[in-house]
Amino acid sequence: MSRVLRWVLLLFLYSGVCGQCVVRATDRPNFVIIYADDLGYGDLSCYGHPSIRTPNLDRMAAEGMRFTEFYSAAEVCTPSRAALMTGRYPVRNGMCHDRFRVLRNNSAGGLPKGEVTIAELLRGAGYRTAAVGKWHLGHLPEHLPPQHGFDEYFGMPYSNDMLPAADAPAGRGKFFVEQNDYWRTPLIRGTEVVETAPDQRVLTRRYTEEAERFIRESGEQPFFLYLAHNFPHVPLFASAEFRGRSAAGIYGDVVEELDWSVGRILDVLRSCGLAEKTMVVFSSDNGPWLIFDAHGGSAGLLRDGKGSTWEGGMRVPGIVWWPGRIPAGVIQREPACTMDLLPTIAGFSGQPLPEVVLDGCDIAPLLLGTGSVERDAYMYYRGTTLYACRRGSWKAHFLTQTGYGVPEPERQDPPQLYELRVDPGERWNVAKEHPEVLAEIQAAVERHRATVQPVESQLEAALPVQPAAESKSR
Ligand code: MG
Repeated sequence: MSRVLRWVLLLFLYSGVCGQCVVRATDRPNFVIIYADDLGYGDLSCYGHPSIRTPNLDRMAAEGMRFTEFYSAAEVCTPSRAALMTGRYPVRNGMCHDRFRVLRNNSAGGLPKGEVTIAELLRGAGYRTAAVGKWHLGHLPEHLPPQHGFDEYFGMPYSNDMLPAADAPAGRGKFFVEQNDYWRTPLIRGTEVVETAPDQRVLTRRYTEEAERFIRESGEQPFFLYLAHNFPHVPLFASAEFRGRSAAGIYGDVVEELDWSVGRILDVLRSCGLAEKTMVVFSSDNGPWLIFDAHGGSAGLLRDGKGSTWEGGMRVPGIVWWPGRIPAGVIQREPACTMDLLPTIAGFSGQPLPEVVLDGCDIAPLLLGTGSVERDAYMYYRGTTLYACRRGSWKAHFLTQTGYGVPEPERQDPPQLYELRVDPGERWNVAKEHPEVLAEIQAAVERHRATVQPVESQLEAALPVQPAAESKSR
């Protein structure tokens, strides 16, 4: 080989390698959100559960960033999902119940088309997008994920208990017998019902396989995967491989199978060489459904559970993993929430924010360890009613009500006040000692309220609403 030819060849190879580098440097990252249903703050090993084993989530947390003050944006399923997808409190788009019960309660009216979802934001930037699992933002074809920015959808349109079989026993006894024949929640692909009585014992496995396929088929194109498991929402089912495996009964079996699923997703990303190009988030839509006893999970040391604006209803596990980009760590003094995901993903993907009022913050500085985030306050709603507000370490309750079984809230005047980092179980009301803190929180609430459209005008926009065809589960 002549000297000149060798130099030409070297130059060619060099430019090729550099070309690859340039492509990699400008590559937009992939995003995966893994969302559990009704998983409590205390249900994972890495959040202190003594007998449920979650080695894959523990590893994800050890390699990534684990938040101890991570919130869903609502106390039940539909509004919390609407908030995650849009970065906005559900009260802004009506995906929550109101005192007249005619807003889009139970999701039947669907997420309004004007809302911009994470999937729409990313698809506009050339991402492949898929939703796998529970949707619960409208079960009719015109409201399903393909109408909200997802190229693909496979899953249940709402909770796994929302269509009991006609011959299933009345009452709650059917929730505790692991009888798949009692349930008829369908499986949908795209917008078509493909199974009317799927075997829920293999639901977690099937969702996982669907998610793995989507990741493997992505090739060079960036992708967004929303993997929203139906479990550990009751009724509980685990596959034969996991049934009876946990020391924590069927609830532990179900959570350990979800943990297996997380491990599979992270392994596929590693084996495809995508781990360092993918941000993975794990969280839950609300706290544990405590009225289902041992089938209902645990909020650990937090007070109450699903349905409540006490901490156990809305503070959930929150883990973010992105090897090589997000350092390993634990964030204990910075609250974050699922509404932060849209602005954070917009930032990492270089997409402009939707031109609407957003309630989430870009938490990249927290994730990357480069700074803090300016957050005025965090609001706790039940439906369209504001119950409580957190500012810094302090939380004021204007209304209190346990998650289920109490028809009306109790007004607190003066509000109850708790210092959450000192008293995460909300046991000692210190309102009398800190009137200045209450005044600051009240001012934050007024600032927030000034940005929210009154419920009455939302009602006008929402009507007519199709009657909910689903059960009362949310
Ligand atoms: Mg839920």
